[in-house]
Amino acid sequence: MGIHRLPDGLSRKIAAGEVIERPLSVVKELIENSLDAGATAVDVELGQGGKVLISVKDNGGGIVPEELPLAVEKHATSKISSEADLEAIATLGYRGEALSSVCAVSHFELYSRRPDLPEGASLHYENGVPRVTAVPLRPGTTVVVKDLFYNLPARRKFLKTAAAEFRRISRLVQDYAFAYPAVAFSLTHDGKSVFKSSGGGSVEKLLAQIWGDEPEIRASAFEAATSSVRLWWQDLGPQSRFQLVSFVNGRRVSDAVIRSAIQGFHWATRGNWLVMLSLPAEDVDVNVHPAKSEILFRRSGEVYDLVRKAAERLAKGFSDAPILERGD
Ligand code: ADP
Ligand code: MG
Repeated sequence: MGIHRLPDGLSRKIAAGEVIERPLSVVKELIENSLDAGATAVDVELGQGGKVLISVKDNGGGIVPEELPLAVEKHATSKISSEADLEAIATLGYRGEALSSVCAVSHFELYSRRPDLPEGASLHYENGVPRVTAVPLRPGTTVVVKDLFYNLPARRKFLKTAAAEFRRISRLVQDYAFAYPAVAFSLTHDGKSVFKSSGGGSVEKLLAQIWGDEPEIRASAFEAATSSVRLWWQDLGPQSRFQLVSFVNGRRVSDAVIRSAIQGFHWATRGNWLVMLSLPAEDVDVNVHPAKSEILFRRSGEVYDLVRKAAERLAKGFSDAPILERGD
């Protein structure tokens, strides 16, 4: 076989696979879009763990009808426009790849109305051709994703049971509720309401709602010149698993620096942890991985110290015993 260019449809599916791994990735991208649009309410609806239906509805700024097809094109975004913008990304999205990727591997519909326009519009595809139709809608945006990976059987095979896919998404929605306590989230699965946050603004209330308030949840914070960290810990006992949820500048990430800063304390290698870091945007490179869940810190040593100090302070608050470190 000589070298040849892949047909456009195929290269789009391959690229989509990098961004969209499973229903969870779709929900994450859509929630991030809603938050970027300034939504104060985000409603997530799933059918069979997201395998047959994912719908995310928000009350954010919306999209003008003329731009609906563009929103779904590859590398089309309203969030950055120049290379300089990459130096300090202030929004959760910026790659212009999520909607195009999701659309390439599902039956996709988009509904949106800007609050300043009297009417909204819907976008559907008929044999790959976009059709925009005027429809009466409330302000905001709804994305409907049906039959994820229907045309990518190789990927569909790797999906877990509906219950397992649902559990991951349920945790994701709750994590976003922690990080955005002013936003009211709801999650519905197979027609049943399974989670609601009030949008009332208190992380502590949400933690008590989701983790349960027994045993007691401890909080701590630490501030440096340009950065700060807040953290919460629920000690579930020596035999419990270590569960860490971390957000950096409002982005849910999985990060080894934060993890090792906490796990350096032997007492801290268990229980539920929530860590929220706030850093200057230019000190974080989020442009590392298509799914944006891994990041690079410009000064990782400082981040490490910051998290350690906050964790140490948390321990001092409840014990006079010396805080032994791992390996001591
Ligand atoms: P990105 O978020 O990286 O810009 P996406 O493919 O996720 O790329 O979205 C493309 C564009 O569509 C966004 O830049 C935004 O202008 C618009 N958009 C997507 N979702 C929403 C939403 N929920 N509300 C308003 N605009 C949206
Ligand atoms: Mg996006």
